[in-house]
Amino acid sequence: TAVAETPLLAPVREFVSGTKQLLIDGKFVPAASGRTFATHDPATGARITDVAWGEAADVDRAVTAARRAFEAGPWATMRPNERERLLWRVGDLLTERAELFGQLESLDNGKSATVAQVVDTAWAADVFRYYAGWATKIEGSTINVSMPFAPPGSEFHAYTLREPVGVCAQIIPWNFPLLMAAWKLAPALAAGNTVILKPAEQTPLTALLLGELFCEAGFPPGVVNIVTGFGDAGAALAAHDGVDKVAFTGSTEVGKKIVDAAKGNLKKVSLELGGKSPNVVFADADFETAVPGSLNAWLFNHGQCCVAGTRLYVEDRIFDDFTQAVADAASQVKIGPGLDPATQLGPLVSQEQFDRVTGYLAQGLADGARALTGGKRWGDEGYFVEPTVLVDVQPQFSVVREEIFGPVVAALPFTAEEGFSAAANDSVYGLAAGIWTRDISKAHRAAKQLKAGSVWINQYNGFDTALPFGGYKQSGWGRELGAAALDLYTQTKAVNVAL
Ligand code: ADP
Repeated sequence: TAVAETPLLAPVREFVSGTKQLLIDGKFVPAASGRTFATHDPATGARITDVAWGEAADVDRAVTAARRAFEAGPWATMRPNERERLLWRVGDLLTERAELFGQLESLDNGKSATVAQVVDTAWAADVFRYYAGWATKIEGSTINVSMPFAPPGSEFHAYTLREPVGVCAQIIPWNFPLLMAAWKLAPALAAGNTVILKPAEQTPLTALLLGELFCEAGFPPGVVNIVTGFGDAGAALAAHDGVDKVAFTGSTEVGKKIVDAAKGNLKKVSLELGGKSPNVVFADADFETAVPGSLNAWLFNHGQCCVAGTRLYVEDRIFDDFTQAVADAASQVKIGPGLDPATQLGPLVSQEQFDRVTGYLAQGLADGARALTGGKRWGDEGYFVEPTVLVDVQPQFSVVREEIFGPVVAALPFTAEEGFSAAANDSVYGLAAGIWTRDISKAHRAAKQLKAGSVWINQYNGFDTALPFGGYKQSGWGRELGAAALDLYTQTKAVNVAL
């Protein structure tokens, strides 16, 4: 298929022209083993460049650097307003180079370069500025203590300090490589921690480019370290006795391994895991907004979103019309490489992910599901899958129960009498949910009934940096974004003074 690909910007070509290295203690260095691995363009399968293959020995070096920076380096004594300025500078540098980041992300991940610029990169910049603001606003409190066992007449002054946790390991996935780095790094740094970031092996490039910005902005060496590599590097971080906290975003399966690995020194753990989110459309929903909104719910980022609204529950009276309208809209979506400006739906990230998604499709169709649109591979190179709307599905089908992480939605009807909540909550996950109705009371009642960390009413993917985000049930531990993320990266010390 001929495509009008945007030629790569000179700085992108330059960035990928050499082997990329690890960021340890303020310097870009090769892996201790000298080994590298290739990262690929998902639109063609072609190798982009080679990246240092970080392993346990590199994790050790990075932890040592982060520990020194935390205990002794200038970071430990740096004033909050200086941290604020550094974080703000990273936000500005991201904004200045948004086009560059957008292209590089598109090349490595497959998503649209435009989306990567105006959503992923712009939002990452916003996240750095938001937490820059928090650096000077992390407060303890003074507390009136009663001290029932103290001698009568004695006086006390008690207060709390909110202190950084220490050395934080942050392990992130490939679906929003730059943005997940920003969500993780910004609150940790605002609170005064030092970090070792482990990007996903499929998409290491934008994190390494972000690493250059930290150096350019003037962060002291060792405050931000980036170790590219595979799951074993993540496992080494999760198990490391020199790490005080591990934050992970990825699959529920690996999340459970992180919990196990963290047991040794009982490091703090926060997890943002999988989902199979319900999107509930009532018969009184506004068709004009609910159709494109429900499409966006499962198709954004090619369905490679932990919050994807992939269980579409539609009130029976409008089920056929609504699902057909969503299928028609899906069939109009322009598929192509992310670097083509006309592209709305790019390739999946990897061969592995392609095999996984087409495997689920085959299983769903064999189980008896019917594809209103899509159902198979698109084109004959790269990892493209057609947007697919499945009907005639049963609640026990794997396409209804399991996270597919691709452009596939399963639609199920519900009746006004039975309601939607039992079906919508019938999942081990509880990350997000959508509700579409023009009845405001019904909408708020429904929001209370859903067991999910985020509920979006008459919209989907309604994220904001200030809103806490995280999962109920097996979708995670803790809340990122907003003020809530600071709870993950601070610990409270109670100080009680006998006056
Ligand atoms: P996905 O299913 O989205 O690819 P994973 O959960 O497999 O997500 O991976 C997310 C991140 O976790 C990646 O950076 C990956 O390298 C890392 N990872 C994989 N296995 C482990 C492990 N056992 N311990 C720690 N990190 C791991």
